[in-house]
Amino acid sequence: MSGIKRRQFLGTLGKAVIWSSPLLAMGCARQNEAPSGKAPAVITNKTFEWKMVTTWPPHFPALGEGAEHFARWVEDMSAGRLKIKVYGGGELVPPLQVFDAVSQGVAEMGHGASYYWAGKAPAAQFFAAVPFGMNAQQMHAWIDAGGGMELWRELYAQFNLVPFPGGNTGVQMGGWFNKEIHSLEDLKGLKMRIPGLGGKVIAKAGGSAILSAGGEIYTNLERGVIDATEWIGPYHDYLMGFHRIAKYYYYPGWHEPGTVTELICNKAAFEQLPTDLQHIIRVAAWRLNTWVLSEFESKNTEYLQKILAEGKVQIKKFPDDVLEKFRQLSQEVIQEVVEKDPFSKKVYQSFHQFQQRVGEWATVSEKMYYNVLMR
Ligand code: CA
Repeated sequence: MSGIKRRQFLGTLGKAVIWSSPLLAMGCARQNEAPSGKAPAVITNKTFEWKMVTTWPPHFPALGEGAEHFARWVEDMSAGRLKIKVYGGGELVPPLQVFDAVSQGVAEMGHGASYYWAGKAPAAQFFAAVPFGMNAQQMHAWIDAGGGMELWRELYAQFNLVPFPGGNTGVQMGGWFNKEIHSLEDLKGLKMRIPGLGGKVIAKAGGSAILSAGGEIYTNLERGVIDATEWIGPYHDYLMGFHRIAKYYYYPGWHEPGTVTELICNKAAFEQLPTDLQHIIRVAAWRLNTWVLSEFESKNTEYLQKILAEGKVQIKKFPDDVLEKFRQLSQEVIQEVVEKDPFSKKVYQSFHQFQQRVGEWATVSEKMYYNVLMR
């Protein structure tokens, strides 16, 4: 920045201070960023070489790819002071051991989805996806500006972790089946790969929910270890090849309406970083969040067309009464989780209140707009 431009820029900042009002002050007071801990405020030239383990196969499009972008952005923004080597699932630790590995400091960072850790921290799944919960935009609003981030940080601090949202898939698809779903009867005995709270709903409906990492699903479906699977949406599901081994592709993804993927940092490692590197991680995490969502939104559009054009798969909507049953069972599942675990109760209270309020707003904003737009 030239001397004159820099003075002009500083002058603008000065005006912003003069014009500050109670309303602006409220915005500034939002405490939604990860704690800077006791990190020294000074910027040093010390370099850090970190490892990031992920739940995705190596170089997995959008997700692993996003984690690799994140590492590059951090290295570029820090002028090489923080280098992060990204490992695919199984390269350093198995995919579903990412949480433990980062918690124990085997790796300083991890990328995955918080519903994978429901067995260790039931409340974690509310930060990934809730059946009939909020969409991507609303999840981001809850996490960033509605109290979600503070709760997420409080929960993960118990595991020596600092969480950040690190991507969003947008609304997912309902899954791949080899038989039509006319009623809940058709789910009886069905072995379906489906994680999180949605999996518990399938189990309640008489099926069995299986949690497996992305790299294993195709083979399991092909060999009949599972009868059905959900994954993400047209783009990723096509790359996974499910259209070659399943006949029916159902929508909507009632179980994952805007799934947040997460970045996690070992808390002690994060707090040892100088404050500027901590900020670089926060900023790069939000950039990753947007990048992943944009990637899915644009490529889902393209791949839905591709699947339709190839005409080999029947794309079907779940019947309304099946969706209504899923909704009722989801309420029961959530109720059971919050009754057993006090932290889940606290998180769900915040989630639910936010969803109700944002729903009132969406009724006069987005819902109305979609009605007008897509008549
Ligand atoms: Ca999914």
